[in-house]
Amino acid sequence: HWWIVATRALAELHGRHAMSGPDGGAQAALDCLRQASQRADALGSGREGVELLVELAAAHERVGDLAQALATERQARGAANTLERQRLANRMLSAELRHEAELQRREAELQRRLANTDVLTGIPNRRCFLERMSTELSRCQRSGRVLSLVMTDIDRFKSINDSLGHAAGDGVIAAVAQALAAHQRAGDSVGRLGGEEFALLLPDTDLAAAALVAERLRAEVEALLIEWSGQRVPVTMSFGCSDSRGEGEDALGALMHRADQALYEAKRGGRNRVARLSLEAAGVKR
Ligand code: GH3
Ligand code: MG
Ligand code: MG
Repeated sequence: HWWIVATRALAELHGRHAMSGPDGGAQAALDCLRQASQRADALGSGREGVELLVELAAAHERVGDLAQALATERQARGAANTLERQRLANRMLSAELRHEAELQRREAELQRRLANTDVLTGIPNRRCFLERMSTELSRCQRSGRVLSLVMTDIDRFKSINDSLGHAAGDGVIAAVAQALAAHQRAGDSVGRLGGEEFALLLPDTDLAAAALVAERLRAEVEALLIEWSGQRVPVTMSFGCSDSRGEGEDALGALMHRADQALYEAKRGGRNRVARLSLEAAGVKR
């Protein structure tokens, strides 16, 4: 490339020399340009190659070879057209590639969301919820901050299924999920753990505050107007709360176990209520 630049500059010098007198400067310029043009052609150096052909045509004209000047002009125009076509094709190709990359990104995003979402309710599924819980617990381990887990389960759900049918049961699950998700605060997570069981993860929330959240949700669900075949379906839920600072080897398993124990207590105590089990009460040292 530098050789081409130098030879082109040399041609210009010869050209100027030719203008100052009738010596062989114009012919020398022509020779330089021809060589530079051939080299540019061999290198496939697009825009520069076209410029050299234009200069070469002018050089042919200067030495009086009009036929060669015309032929070289045509060659230059052809090369310029090819270049333009290539530029457009490249632009289209890069637009297509960008489009394809965007489609792939969107598909991956959809697949990720699909893998994390419960189909019936549209809220995060068990896998996704446990993943978030694990992340939050690691954060608590580092910062020493507290989080709470609320586990909740629809009361006597089997009787809804039995009396109104499975589809009605599905409708109740979806309505309850919507209510739980609608009342969560920023930073909280809700998930369907399976069947008619849900969980809420409340970062930076101690057990007393978590129990208040659960109590509010309990009242919310009890007041829900869920209808099936024109009839109201009364629904209540029981709640079990526990807290954690990420302590212990299996912080996640232990926290779930404590919340589950509390939920069991709420069921045993008559359902439609909130129970809690603190770390201390479970015999875990802070
Ligand atoms: P408890 O108050 O003790 O929680 O009683 P329960 O009847 O709610 O609990 P149980 O575990 O005996 O029954 C849960 C039922 O939920 C059994 C199962 O067939 C039903 N179930 C689980 N998943 C689904 C679902 O996706 N849709 C529907 N319609 N029913 C489901
Ligand atoms: Mg139940
Ligand atoms: Mg259950």
